[in-house]
Amino acid sequence: MMEYLSELKECTLCQWRCGVDRLKGEFGVCETGIPIVASKTLHPAPPKSLTIFMEGCNFRCLNCQNWDIAHSKCTGKNNFIEPRKLAIEGIEKINSYSGKRIGADRLFFSGGSPTPSIPYIERVVEEARKIEDIKVNFDTNGFMTKSSLKRVLDFTTSITFDIKAYHDDVHRAITGAPVKPVLRNAEYLVENAVDKLWEFRYLLIPGVNEEDVFHLSRFLSDIDEEVPLNFLAFRPNFVMENYRGVEKGELEKAVKKAKDAGLQNVSWSGLPGIKGNSTVLDQTRYTQPGAKIAGGIAEDKGCITHPRDCNSCTALKDCKIKRYEPSKKT
Ligand code: SF4
Ligand code: SF4
Repeated sequence: MMEYLSELKECTLCQWRCGVDRLKGEFGVCETGIPIVASKTLHPAPPKSLTIFMEGCNFRCLNCQNWDIAHSKCTGKNNFIEPRKLAIEGIEKINSYSGKRIGADRLFFSGGSPTPSIPYIERVVEEARKIEDIKVNFDTNGFMTKSSLKRVLDFTTSITFDIKAYHDDVHRAITGAPVKPVLRNAEYLVENAVDKLWEFRYLLIPGVNEEDVFHLSRFLSDIDEEVPLNFLAFRPNFVMENYRGVEKGELEKAVKKAKDAGLQNVSWSGLPGIKGNSTVLDQTRYTQPGAKIAGGIAEDKGCITHPRDCNSCTALKDCKIKRYEPSKKT
């Protein structure tokens, strides 16, 4: 096995710090073995790029939009792409007619979450920059160690940073993970490398994380009132396939709340108004009303640990959330 992947023998790349030997087939929360590219595509959404989707994720979000990439059990050694090969292909695609037509100017690593693949991505970027001084974006859920974040800052031009909620129990109910490391990393990023922050992104789920908007915005504006925050429209998806989509008015209200909390650069995007049911299931081991709703949905679909905490959960290897198969792909 390649030397640059040797740290996967005792993986502590993200805040779960599982310490498992991913090269020997042991799985941590992300269930990612060696880094595998699920797909790559030219993407016209800013920052325009060749987006490279890495398999696996260290979260188990109920509303995952890329569940087929994030939650497949990643054992696909046969699909491994040598970093130099991916680097050459990436540069070629960006410089192709199609790449130029959309204005693509960077490699954009997404997923799943690219965090479990950091050593691989570092090598791809190194190889790519031997060819040309290419820009690189890293798309993160923020749940990595501080030392991983510093590594990411070393090779990135821009960072798109998702924050799922502000209150810990809302964040746990949605993702299965605590929020503190995410907020710590958001703060570190703004204080130390704000020029690399493309934007914070917040997927607005009606009734679930709406109440967190003001608190998160105040948290961010206390660090720097100019940081950009974009609300993305939730659509019924994955484990939350029967929950209702957010309405345009709710996105506009979130923008207003964020501005009232002191942020100056706030926007929303996505496709609002997708119908769904509004089944509300109440899980009592949460405090925030939105956490009760998301926790209730998780419990209904088989999550056994509440408040959700995937790394300490006895069902980790047989997680009904991770294995959930929605009736439709939206
Ligand atoms: S969940 Fe995080 S620490 Fe655990 S194996 Fe995956 S990347 Fe490593
Ligand atoms: S069952 Fe356990 S591992 Fe699965 S989502 Fe719930 S807390 Fe996480």
